[in-house]
Amino acid sequence: MFKPEKFAGKKACVLGLGRSGKAAAGLLLRRGFPVLISEEHCVSPASVPAGAEVETGGHTEKVFECGFIVKSPGIFPRHPVLKEARKRKIPVFSELEVALAFAPKGVRVLAVSGTNGKTTTTSLLGEILKEYCACLQPRRRAFVAGNIGAPVSSVADELRPGDFLAVEVSSYQLEDSTFFRPHVACLLNITPDHLDHHGGMDGYIRAKARLFKNQRANDFAVLNGGDDICASLAGAVKGALSAFSAKPKHALKTDVFFDGDEIIFSAGYHLCPPKLKGIHNVENAMAAALCALAADVPADVIQSVFSRFEPMEHRIEPFAHHRGVVYVNDSKATNLDSTVIALQSFDKVPHIWLILGGRDKGASYEALLPYMEGRCKEVLSVGECMDKIERELKGFPITRCGTLERAVEYVFDRAKKGDVVLLSPACASFDQFKDYEERGRVFKTLVTRRIKRSRSAG
Ligand code: ADP
Repeated sequence: MFKPEKFAGKKACVLGLGRSGKAAAGLLLRRGFPVLISEEHCVSPASVPAGAEVETGGHTEKVFECGFIVKSPGIFPRHPVLKEARKRKIPVFSELEVALAFAPKGVRVLAVSGTNGKTTTTSLLGEILKEYCACLQPRRRAFVAGNIGAPVSSVADELRPGDFLAVEVSSYQLEDSTFFRPHVACLLNITPDHLDHHGGMDGYIRAKARLFKNQRANDFAVLNGGDDICASLAGAVKGALSAFSAKPKHALKTDVFFDGDEIIFSAGYHLCPPKLKGIHNVENAMAAALCALAADVPADVIQSVFSRFEPMEHRIEPFAHHRGVVYVNDSKATNLDSTVIALQSFDKVPHIWLILGGRDKGASYEALLPYMEGRCKEVLSVGECMDKIERELKGFPITRCGTLERAVEYVFDRAKKGDVVLLSPACASFDQFKDYEERGRVFKTLVTRRIKRSRSAG
């Protein structure tokens, strides 16, 4: 376990100059540790915290002269530099573990993980905790951090005993965190993703299971009882277990169900879910509510947040209406499962123009066919994997567009009243964009510009 006093005076090597690496370096420097940041790629060290030593373009022997290593989540677990560090018995910690080691005792950590829905659920939970804290006397504070935006290292200095920390944790961070112990741990779902990184499905599940590994009897676990893999982890839970599912059939007995209108808890509460599209968002709301209830938040505070919660950017986000056509940005759908979810959240009428493609992640697009049939009019393919999409969706109407720009031009005059133009790519964005956020913003700009042009033309 990372104990700051045990490593006092030792030099820290922060591996990776990404967002969490920079934040970890900043925190360690503020706490008096000498820091080396070592980055394999050639990147500008411009925004590095003052006082850190930096090497870019490769890892050198300097790494192994350090007393411990803080690994950025994106670094491949079997990277030679880590193998060598382990051989030389240099302890390796995650940014999450290091950051939490500096947090004062008494901070309540609520962690959310899962293949899909982490950001939505963590945001909901964060909003609920903030609203709750605002009514407490003496005032406490709630922070939202982790994969969702600000790394935990960047909020660690601000945490005080009694504060809440809602943290979105990815499988990468969990894999590196041997001693992480959240007071409330929520696992939303597990479907195949990031299999290369974890060396297959078993490794991925093992990483996710770490969420509960260090919990004790007075902690809480919240699990998706309708997800067979999540349900299979119930036996390993040591704290109080709550399960949720919006599906009629589930492997695990649940503490909450959806009657099509309200979320009903076995404890007696009835809550109206937020106005977000899709049954998956009812599940996200159930999960956030169960986590909040475990932290003693009253049900009326949860309802107040549910009632005002708006769709999040890039997640089945309807952003434009023109001539009866709805334009929806689901750029965050970077795997097949989330595109399936997006398709399912629309009626079974063939009215969707689906913009699909980007950097392929290995799974077969054929899995989309049952959900496209009866819903999609046409697929507009973009990005690197257009050939693969064509091969695997053979027989379905597909137009090769290549870019979002061409896809928007193509669909704009063809879409009719009642149609939906849905960007839900099922792929990573890195072939043409910096990230999924840039892809989503570009899509929205292209559509709004095209609408303006059409309005000014007449
Ligand atoms: P994450 O942070 O895990 O990527 P997000 O909340 O950002 O999750 O949502 C990512 C994508 O997954 C979106 O396209 C969304 O529609 C879909 N999604 C959200 N919640 C769920 C869920 N509970 N189950 C399956 N898919 C979901």
